[in-house]
Amino acid sequence: MHEWRLATVVGAIHETATVWTFILDVPGWPGHRAGQYVDVRLVAKDGDRPKRSFSIASAPGDPRLALTIERLKNGEVSPHLCDELHAGDQFELRGPLGNFVWDVGDGGPLLLVAGGSGIVPLMAMLRHRAAVLTDAAARRALPARLLYSSRREDEIIFRAELERLAAHDHSLRVTHTITRKPAPGWKGALGRIDRTMLATVAWPPADRPRIYICGPSPLVTFVETELKALGHDPDLIRIERFGPTGDKGATPSRD
Ligand SMILES: Cc1cc2nc3c(=O)[nH]c(=O)nc-3n(C[C@H](O)[C@H](O)[C@H](O)COP(=O)(O)OP(=O)(O)OC[C@H]3O[C@@H](n4cnc5c(N)ncnc54)[C@H](O)[C@@H]3O)c2cc1C
Repeated sequence: MHEWRLATVVGAIHETATVWTFILDVPGWPGHRAGQYVDVRLVAKDGDRPKRSFSIASAPGDPRLALTIERLKNGEVSPHLCDELHAGDQFELRGPLGNFVWDVGDGGPLLLVAGGSGIVPLMAMLRHRAAVLTDAAARRALPARLLYSSRREDEIIFRAELERLAAHDHSLRVTHTITRKPAPGWKGALGRIDRTMLATVAWPPADRPRIYICGPSPLVTFVETELKALGHDPDLIRIERFGPTGDKGATPSRD
């Protein structure tokens, strides 16, 4: 079992109105693989110890660990973290955990599908790919595509960084879709991810893309089912559910 370690906040980035990234110093951190998560444990005033899982946003090898957390209005833990954590504050975490992992050595093509904060572990994979594949020929040999669903344009997490990565890398294609009414000038896709969108973004099944899907449970279930129906090999599909209802690992827990 992984031991609990003390993490110190060394920086915070306000990503969107409801999302913050916390940069952490974790002495003794053993390193992680792109896609893994940590458990975070708080000590509440009443002595309660609520625990939640958060994916690691930083690439393996980064000297600092980054967690990107969406503040859920009625949440018990995420508002506390987002509202009250400042540089110098400390909390406990353990990890790295989980088998939702991709390494450059696993090969590609790499197809990533995210909903909302489900982008976090996929961002770690894209950061890892960019850090390791430093020349264009290597990136061409391992192309990546991301289909990312957000409610509104201003809720797209890591938007500027995704644009920067894609601008410097012609073998990375990023497709955004938003599910609410767009502001004038929106150039991405519209509406929830559907089969047509998946068929347009994905490589043909014969190319055997490695597929990673992460986000709320209904989105994950839908996308996984549709990609299988399109003929993708189930053995190449990995999923991670963030949703609240009875999902593996998502059930809030306490020590
Ligand atoms: C492996 C894993 C990795 C995760 N990584 C991240 C991450 O990188 N960033 C991140 O922001 N979250 C992530 N989550 C979700 C996170 O663990 C918490 O579930 C979330 O922060 C809500 O906790 P809370 O205490 O604020 O809300 P709770 O008090 O647990 O719930 C409050 C209300 O929100 C609903 N709810 C709970 N979770 C969600 C959710 N994810 N989406 C929508 N509604 C929800 C509940 O049903 C309830 O009505 C991850 C979950 C898992 C299982």
